[in-house]
This record gives sequence, structure tokens and C-alpha cells, in this order.
Amino acid sequence: MKSILTLLFAVILLNLTWAQTDIYRAEAERINDLVHTKLNVQFDFEKEEMPAEAWVTLKPHFYPTKSVTLDAKGMLIHEVSLLNNGKKSPLKYDYDSKQLLINLGKTYQKDESYELYIQYTARPNEVKQEGSAAISDAKGLYFIDPRDEDPEKPTQIWTQGETESSSAWFPTIDKPNQKTTEEIYITVPDKFVTLSNGTLIKQTKNADGTRTDYWKQDQKHAPYLFYMGIGDFAVVKDSWQGKPVDYYVEHEYEPFAKEIFGMTPDMLTFFSERFGYEYPWDKYSQMVARDYVSGAMENTTAVIHMETAQQKHGQLIDENAWEDVIAHELAHHWFGDLVTAESWSNLTMNESFANYSEYLWREHRYGKASADAHRASDLEGYIMGGNFDKDLVRFHYAAREDMFDGVSYNKGGYVLHMLRGYLGDDAFFAGLNKYLKEHEYDKAEAHQLRLALEEVSGRDLNWFFNQWYYSHGHPKLTVIVENSNDVAKLNIKQMQEPLFEFPLTVDIYENGIPARHTVWVKKQRVNTFDFKTSGTVNLVFPNADHDLIAEISQDLTTVQNVLLYNAAEDEYTSRKLALENLSGEQLMNEEALNTLIKALDDSYHGVRIQAINALDITSPKVKSKAITKLVQLAEDDPKTLVRAAALNKLSDLQDAAYLTTFEKATTSESFAVRAAGLEGLLDLNREKAISYAHNVDDEVIAQSPELLAEMIPLWKSKNDTSHFEALTEMAAFYAFVALQDPTLAAPAEEAFQWIMATDSPHATKKVMSLQEQIYNQMKTQQPMALPYVKQMTLKALEIKKKAYQENASSSLKSQVEIIEQTLKGYN
Ligand SMILES: [Zn+2]
Repeated sequence: MKSILTLLFAVILLNLTWAQTDIYRAEAERINDLVHTKLNVQFDFEKEEMPAEAWVTLKPHFYPTKSVTLDAKGMLIHEVSLLNNGKKSPLKYDYDSKQLLINLGKTYQKDESYELYIQYTARPNEVKQEGSAAISDAKGLYFIDPRDEDPEKPTQIWTQGETESSSAWFPTIDKPNQKTTEEIYITVPDKFVTLSNGTLIKQTKNADGTRTDYWKQDQKHAPYLFYMGIGDFAVVKDSWQGKPVDYYVEHEYEPFAKEIFGMTPDMLTFFSERFGYEYPWDKYSQMVARDYVSGAMENTTAVIHMETAQQKHGQLIDENAWEDVIAHELAHHWFGDLVTAESWSNLTMNESFANYSEYLWREHRYGKASADAHRASDLEGYIMGGNFDKDLVRFHYAAREDMFDGVSYNKGGYVLHMLRGYLGDDAFFAGLNKYLKEHEYDKAEAHQLRLALEEVSGRDLNWFFNQWYYSHGHPKLTVIVENSNDVAKLNIKQMQEPLFEFPLTVDIYENGIPARHTVWVKKQRVNTFDFKTSGTVNLVFPNADHDLIAEISQDLTTVQNVLLYNAAEDEYTSRKLALENLSGEQLMNEEALNTLIKALDDSYHGVRIQAINALDITSPKVKSKAITKLVQLAEDDPKTLVRAAALNKLSDLQDAAYLTTFEKATTSESFAVRAAGLEGLLDLNREKAISYAHNVDDEVIAQSPELLAEMIPLWKSKNDTSHFEALTEMAAFYAFVALQDPTLAAPAEEAFQWIMATDSPHATKKVMSLQEQIYNQMKTQQPMALPYVKQMTLKALEIKKKAYQENASSSLKSQVEIIEQTLKGYN
């Protein structure tokens, strides 16, 4: 089972087109360099503003200069002075609400530093910038429920710097090739905790009931990595080698904080060893914030995660859905924070490593099959995303936010995996270490990785970087095999443009046993390879280690797929491919079916789930062979996700024989098993299922669209609005739900109308933000679906306005405004 949103995204992630541009996006010129940034900030919650002071130390980069341009977005500038031995002298400046052009009054030479004092008010709501799919807004500084109007939402403040939004809350040179040390004084109501970069040096209580926290980071980092997070959080303490490792969560999730984030110290050890470079920063904190505009962000020592990170015990038993993200953000503290991509064109120098670190962590912690499964789904994301024409290092893009895509992340991570395979573990990781040491606390571009790897390995890598970093696409291969007496002939045709050259592993199966060969495919349309054989050749299988990014079209017979499943060396990707091929033949081919049944016992749970899902259980033949095993998996598999998959498969039978199996499942600690049990029970004994459903967490019900559809009218009849959170996804996309499953259409629309007709600030906002998200995704990906989204939002406005006419509350009024704002954003 997947959430409705996931299903929907799977459907719409097709037919992408991307805006191209002729503008060359160079690294920003460095005229002046940041040296140090000191800030003193407080907050006007009523006006959503931040009165502040900044002391910015700079120096000319090389050439003498008598002016400096600072980025400062949407601010009120009250004073700009030069500081000399503590004395201020006013400077002349121009300000256009984006940049502050300051006349320094004299010419400064290289390495002659100067300190500016700027008094200003940050006004995030005045900042106008184009947002992106990855980071849906660009205000820099976010006030969440600042006037405490929403009873369901805590008051919080947090910041989001990447790409160039830190300059919405402090004046700086907002480019990734700048680095500065940092100190910040944050004054907040005493009831709140604060989080920022570096070390909390001091806390001072003030007479007016506020408190000033003083944070300091002596190691320099890029302006986009500055962070402030403020609110009423539970701070759960952990540690690694004497350094604080803290988890900031809402109080409700305090008991689960270590279950969610508790592997962080192990990750710190693992990445320190793997990169041969000990974690260099003062501490490592992670905060889960409300209404965060992206998934997570690697602010130096102060990572922010979206709410989805907060999971309960019953969800965590199934799988920590956030573990990959936790590894990703931590790995950025080497690749991104310590060594920073010099420009957004080179973003992959941050994101490919963070992405690949998810693979490395899984490989270390859960084994290669788990890592490979993750890699396979990333590859699918890259290929499905219509990314073929985009260079990995891309000097032409329309908006810098476009760089946050399946190329910079997924493909970039896979490219690193290819490099690792080509160079070998020792050379690859030694090369990464060299790259880190040479560019620590500095910036880098892809060539610098190439030079480090070349130096360590002694091999030229221009051929590799030219095709994988500075060009686009991947091999699309058609494979034909001809066997004669003692030769197996492998014909490989490259169907794509541009052509590639690459090493390719080939497994030759003789007498059922594979032997590994490596050949070099040249940059030409057709390559032919002859392999001497002695026995019966059963299968010639290229890209046997699946290390090459490629789409390969090769016709395999049933017997070959069975052999691939049983004899391939790797524990995931080959088996996955074999089972995909075999599942279509289960009704007519005994061996195909037998292999699917055998896969129900596979050592890797992901393959067991795939086999379960593939079974056509309503066929009597399949059922008679699979049922005993399936029931056993449903009741006893050590992995709860396998149990849930088996229960879901059993529920397809709608057979009262499994009533007790479903009933037993409804008492499981696992949310997935419980939801699957309830869904099975729903078909057999609706009343009982519903009576159970009244006593489970909403997170369980939200996993089963069918169950949710049953509960909506019941909750509505009692006007029980406490479950709105569980309804928002289904409600937000009711028009699309109808297309996917007509039986769910009416309850989905009912949920939507109910939320809109009710005074529900939180749910209304959530529905709107989901619709806005899907609208922005569709703008590039499926423009013809846009009117459907707009229609739903217009409907929301109509219903909410009516509710406001009946009850003119300020809360309903602001909900009408939220909907109107969403509609405005569509243009
Ligand atoms: Zn990242």
C-alpha cells in the first residue's frame, strides 16, 4: 500500500519538459570576500519582522576596490557604517530592496579587511523570489503561527537559506563560493528554545521576560548554510565522541526521538571512517519543524527536517521512512558544508555525494541488497523524470532551483558508484579523502574531484568526466546474443546519442554457472564481443553487476529468467528483473510460477514483497501453490512489511477462511500490519472492522484508502473533526482520486467539502499547500492537468466563502485569504 499522494506522483511523473536557456551560469565573481558575520536579532511576532544588527567583516578578493555589494532582500535599512576601533562612521549606499551597494569611502587592497555595521529590519513577506519544486518558497525567514491563532499549530520560526535566501534575513554575499565564520545573538521569549550553527556559548535572561542565546561557529561556511530554529521543542540529548548530538522534536514525539534519530552517532562513526576524515564540526543537531518548505536541509550542525520525519513506534517498527534522509543530510557535512559546490551549476558536488551516502549507509548497515534496492528506485526516478538531455554539471539552466533534480541527485550518486567500481574501493575513497582535505572549508567544482581521483589512481579520467559530468544521457543498449559451437557472440548496439564508452561486466552462464568477464565498449554504434565457451551456454548477461547507468533491452526466455533468479551473483537487481519478467508468465508456465513461489522465501525482504505483489492469487492454480506459504508469511514473517504485503494479497481473496488471520493482525504493534488486517477484515465483516478502526491511530487508517473511505462519513456524521490530518491528502486530490479508483471518489469529495465548510485553519492550509505543490509539479510535467487542480481550489474558495458568510469569524476570513493566495500563485 502507498499513500494516495505517492500513487499520484507515480502517475504524473511523466513527460517532463524543461526550460532551456542560453545564459551561461558562471561561478559568481569574487570581488570582495566575506570573513566574519556577527548578528544580533530579535523578533516582532505581530508584524512577522526581524529587527536586527549585522557586523560584517570583508576584504577585497584580489583587486583593490572601494565599494562592496551585499545581497539584502526586502529589508528596511536603517544605518550603514564603517567600524574603526569601535567607532562608527556613516557610509553612503544605494539600496534597491535586493542589493545594498556601499561606497567604502576609500580604496582597500587585497587582504586589507574592513568591518561594516548595518542596522536593518528583515521583512520576509516583502521578499519576492521564484520558488522551486524542491524548495517551494524563498522567503528565507519563516514565521509559523506567529500570533498563536491556530490551536493545532505551535509557534515556530525557522530559516531556509538554499539557494540564495539567507540574504532575506541578513546582509551578506549570498553565493555558495563565499565562506564566513559566524556568531549570532538571538533574543526570544524565554519559553522558546533556539538552535543555530556551532556552539551555544551563553544564555542570558533579560528583564522583559526574553532570553538572549549566543551561538558561535569558528569554522567558516557558506551563507546559505546559516540557520535559526526557534520554538517550543523537546530537546532529546545524545552524543558522539564527546560532541553533543541533539534531536529537537515536538513534545508528542519526544518518546520516539531516539527511535527516529538514534542511529545518528553510528552514522557519524561510519562516515568519519568511510571518508577517512573525522566529522569536523562542533556538534550535530536535528530539528523537525512545521510547514517546512522542502524535505530537509543540511544547515551546518543544525539540520532541519519536515514533519514527515516524526514517526510513531508502530511506523518505525515497519521501517524508518526517514533514515535515508538522515544519512543524506549528515553526509552533506563533508560534501556540501565542508567542501561546497562553487556554483549551482556544480550542485552535484553536494548532492551526488549526499545521495550516494544513502547507498553507503544502507550497504554498511543493512547489506548490499538493501543498498541496491535503493539504487534501483533512484535509477527509476532519474529515467522516469525525463532527464536524458540534462548535463550533470549544467552551465545553462533557467532557474537555479531547476538544478535540484533527478540528475544532480540520483544520476550523480549513481555516477559516483560507477567511479567507485572503475577505480576500486581503495582508490575511490582515498581520492574522496584527498578531495576533502585539499578543499576543506573551501569550494570546489567537478574537475577538482577528477584531479584528486587521477592523482590517487594514476589513471586518466577525462573520458569519464567528459561523458558523465559535462555531457548528458546514458547508454540505451539493444543486446543480441548468438551462440555457435564454442563461441558466444555478444552484439551491443548503442541506440542513443551521444555515444558512450565504458567498461561492461558480462556474465556467461555455462551449465547453469555464471562466470564474470569485463569488456570495453567503444564509443561506436555497434560493439561485438566473442567469448570462448566449452559447455552449453545458457545465458549471456551484460551489465551483470548493474553498475552501469543504462537501459538495456534484451529478450530473455523463461528458462533464462529462472536461471537469472537462481544463479545471479547479486542479491537484488538481477532477481528483481527476473521476477518482473516471470510474473507475466505465471499462469501458463509452471517454472515461472515455481520461481515466484520460491522467491517468497528470498533472503531479502524486498524481493519477498515483490514476489507477493506479483502473484495472481485469484487464479486457482496460483492459489493452490502459494496459499500455505502466503498465510505463513502473513502471520510469521520477521519483517512486518512482508506480513502486510501478504495480508493485502490474502484480502484479494475475500475469503472468510482468513478472518482470524486478519483479526489477529489488527492487534499488531506494526501500523502496516494493522492497516492490512483492517482492510482484509473490512471485506469480510465491515461492522467489526469499523469498530476496531475507531480505536487505532489515524496513521494506521491513513495507510488504507478503503478504510479511510469508510470512516469519513462516520466521522462526519458525528462532526468529529479531530481526524482532519488523516484526510487532507485524499481531500486535496479528490478529483484525481476519482480517476484512480471511482469507489473512493465520493468519500474523497465529501472529505474535501467537509474541511472547506468547517472552521479548520490547519487542514485548510494543508489542503491548499498540497494543491499548490501538485500544481507546481504539473506546471512542467503535465500542464493539461492544471485546470483540474485550479477547479478544485476554486471550489474550495466557493465553499469556504459560504462558511464565512454564515459565520464571519476572523479565522474563517484568514482561511478564505489563504485559498485566494493559493489561486493567485497559480498564475
Ligand atoms: Zn541534499
